[in-house]
Amino acid sequence: MATVRIQDTLSGELRELTPREDGHVGIYACGPTVYGRIHVGNARPYVVFSLLKRFLEHEGLDVTLVVNITDVNDKIYDAARPLGISSAELADEMVAHYRTDTDRLGLGRPDAEPLASETIEGIVALIAELIDRGHAYEVDGDVYFRVRSDPNYGSLSRRAIDEMNQGEGVEGSERKDDPLDFALWKAHKEGEDSVWFAPWGRGRPGWHIECSAMAEQLLGVGFQIHGGGNDLVFPHHENEAAQTRMARDAELAEIWMHNGMLQFGEEKMAKSVGNVAPLHDVLDDVGRNALIMLFAGAHYRQPMAFDDMRLMEALGRVARVRDAARSLVDGESPPDMRPQRDAFFAALADDFNTARAVGAMFEWIREANRRDAPVGRADLVEMLSVLGLENLAESASEAGAEEQELLEQRQAARAAGDYAQADRLRDELRRRGWEVRDGPVGPKLVALDP
Ligand SMILES: [Zn+2]
Repeated sequence: MATVRIQDTLSGELRELTPREDGHVGIYACGPTVYGRIHVGNARPYVVFSLLKRFLEHEGLDVTLVVNITDVNDKIYDAARPLGISSAELADEMVAHYRTDTDRLGLGRPDAEPLASETIEGIVALIAELIDRGHAYEVDGDVYFRVRSDPNYGSLSRRAIDEMNQGEGVEGSERKDDPLDFALWKAHKEGEDSVWFAPWGRGRPGWHIECSAMAEQLLGVGFQIHGGGNDLVFPHHENEAAQTRMARDAELAEIWMHNGMLQFGEEKMAKSVGNVAPLHDVLDDVGRNALIMLFAGAHYRQPMAFDDMRLMEALGRVARVRDAARSLVDGESPPDMRPQRDAFFAALADDFNTARAVGAMFEWIREANRRDAPVGRADLVEMLSVLGLENLAESASEAGAEEQELLEQRQAARAAGDYAQADRLRDELRRRGWEVRDGPVGPKLVALDP
């Protein structure tokens, strides 16, 4: 395999990925809190880490990707109350939506998707260990982590210890020994409709502890890559790191990898563009190919503008790949086009630079378009597979006989002036995934993005 380097937030440097001896790589990425439908911004880490897994598997590694689901949280209690349903019902419903919405990305599921509500035993055991070691303390049924007991606290987010605000507001502040401390366990409060039992009383886990417990259970301590959005560096990841460091005398992960946020523009044409852009609306508007092309077109660490112009550009790039793929033939690609293919994979090995990789792929396509002799599609399929876009190069993208028949019927209806029937046939073709495009040599069928 190629040497793969990833920018590590903890050291601030590019670090070489070192798989375990058996070639295994564990990746843990923080997933959504399920109080509503997920936002297109939540889809970015889902896509980044799913594609990273594809790339590492391409390099011959055996990858386990864990993405947790936070189904116990203040936001869920608050969202369920006005709806008159239990927090567990709301969470179940939103977990189902999350699965359906992310399934539509067509990148497969993570290998494990642990729920906080199913990890309570591990969470309670980890908190008990922290109390035993003097790194946590119980007050009136709450348990707090003693931040100043970790000499390395702040090393991930690199801020001075006095410039840290746990964002827990006034809640419990008079019970904490130090305002820097954060909650590991919260005693049951009126209005909360779920409760678990722990040696220090009835209540529920805090947010940060669930990830330390889940990651350890599924990947072991000291796994290769911990990921998530860069909005999680502090306090969430700083706290995860501290909990595991103090309970296990070991670092939770070797490399901390963070993706940049999406930035939403002002102008708005597609219904999905705007400050609240649910993933399912974006997929309705432009399809999964364009969204993945959009994400892959930017370096994962950079903030990314999300607006109509970028979406249209991504749709254009998808169409260019499809058009180019139509003129390719099955089989191996010319050896003298290998440098473009190699540049694609070299870019991914260099801090997973999908933006540069996509550039190299389009270089390959430009070169293929220049050639008179038929060009084999193998290299393009190999590159597209890592991006989850191999469907763009499938030779089976020609419409079937039935669709061609429908197209002919539509032309006949138009010729006869029966435009209502022509429109019905066009809609039927759309339902089957084909768009009628009128060109200089008559209409043709173009595959719609799923
Ligand atoms: Zn987490």
